[in-house]
Amino acid sequence: MQNASLLIHNLDYLVTMDADRRILQDAWVWIEDGDIKALGEGKLPEAIPEDLSRLDGKGKIGTPGLVNCHHHFYQNMARAYTPGNNLPLLPWLAAMNKLWQPFREDDLALCTELGLVELMLSGATTVADHHYVFPDGAVNMIDAQFEAASRMGVRFHASRGSMNVKSDLISDWALQEEAEILDDTVRLIETHHDAGHGSWRQIIVAPCAATSCSESLLKASAELAKKYKVGLHTHCGETVPENEFSMEKFGRRPLAYLLDCGWDYDRTWLAHGIHFEDTELDQLQSIGIGVAHCPNANMRLGSGICRVPEFIERGIKVGIAVDGSASNDSGHILGELRQALYLARVRYGAEAMSVLDALEVGTWRAAEMMGRNDIGRIATGLCGDLALFPVEDLYANGCENPVDALLICHPRQVSDLVVGGNVRVCDGEVIGLDLEELMARHQDRADVIHAGVAY
Ligand SMILES: [Zn+2]
Repeated sequence: MQNASLLIHNLDYLVTMDADRRILQDAWVWIEDGDIKALGEGKLPEAIPEDLSRLDGKGKIGTPGLVNCHHHFYQNMARAYTPGNNLPLLPWLAAMNKLWQPFREDDLALCTELGLVELMLSGATTVADHHYVFPDGAVNMIDAQFEAASRMGVRFHASRGSMNVKSDLISDWALQEEAEILDDTVRLIETHHDAGHGSWRQIIVAPCAATSCSESLLKASAELAKKYKVGLHTHCGETVPENEFSMEKFGRRPLAYLLDCGWDYDRTWLAHGIHFEDTELDQLQSIGIGVAHCPNANMRLGSGICRVPEFIERGIKVGIAVDGSASNDSGHILGELRQALYLARVRYGAEAMSVLDALEVGTWRAAEMMGRNDIGRIATGLCGDLALFPVEDLYANGCENPVDALLICHPRQVSDLVVGGNVRVCDGEVIGLDLEELMARHQDRADVIHAGVAY
């Protein structure tokens, strides 16, 4: 994507998420060549060029573009899949397993486009996906995802996943050799990764889990991430059975095992991170390891409640994530923040987390965890990434505080989405996209995949 210049003006509210948590009214944001040049309230600066493209924010609330830290787009084709709809994590994974054998690059591109539309329409401008299924040598999966993300115009972080240990959950056709995995990860980093300001593409080294990857692969993955100074990611601390399995097989809890495999690295973040002891929280904090919080999936699979308010209090990095499309089974990022807000209150009480606390988990905290200091706030010099939500909404009608209503009331979709100064969603529609056609193609292919497996 190219960066663009834009003036967003007349905003009813601008939720900056800056250090002072300023909320501006009658606000404007001036984006020049992709970055925020200035912002303020009331009268526009005279220096703004007459011919600058303008987006009218009247009747809208602006927030930083939301950041999704963990996802599995491929699971879009297994949403509400009957055999797995009422199961915990491992049986649920097993129930879906056979669906993926015919899955190829075109399928993942289709799932990625559909998943990105959901995220964009709910406010996301930066998205991480974790893809670890490469059936029968479908080697260009991640490249296909980058092409799809490029068409949609969002910042995309591809977690190059891997599995090389057979189990009841994983068939031979889903496994790859360690050398093949590492060679392809290096290729992807050297082809796609951009660590610079305003990056549109990043690679994360991301073995699926300690249960599906060998010790050698876990160690080599950590070495590779450190060598190339890229992110390192996996699932950890999601369920109690995972801890029991780890004790039995490795003689250590999962986090200790990962740390012994060289994962003591401050660019690491772990999906779920529910079942940690206090001493493990100390380790996360001191090393700088973060947790991608996936409240919907954790509730859907009955996995448990992540200790997010304690993470924040202890200075542990944490970001929001919708997780897999088949454990959510949606990708509404604003809705995910609402669930994070309320799940925290279930465990810690109604005063434990405010709307702005939750919005932080979806903006600068998520960005920080993914190693980015150029997104997540609306501030001078940062990327011009904003989500604009309509103030007037059926589900918020009658509200007194429109900003709190973003999460306190039923989640809504954006009116507009701006990424690097580019307007990617306008009046609730992704620019240049025939959504009905995309949905029809996606459902048709999902129907074929479902029909291929009897249950
Ligand atoms: Zn996951």
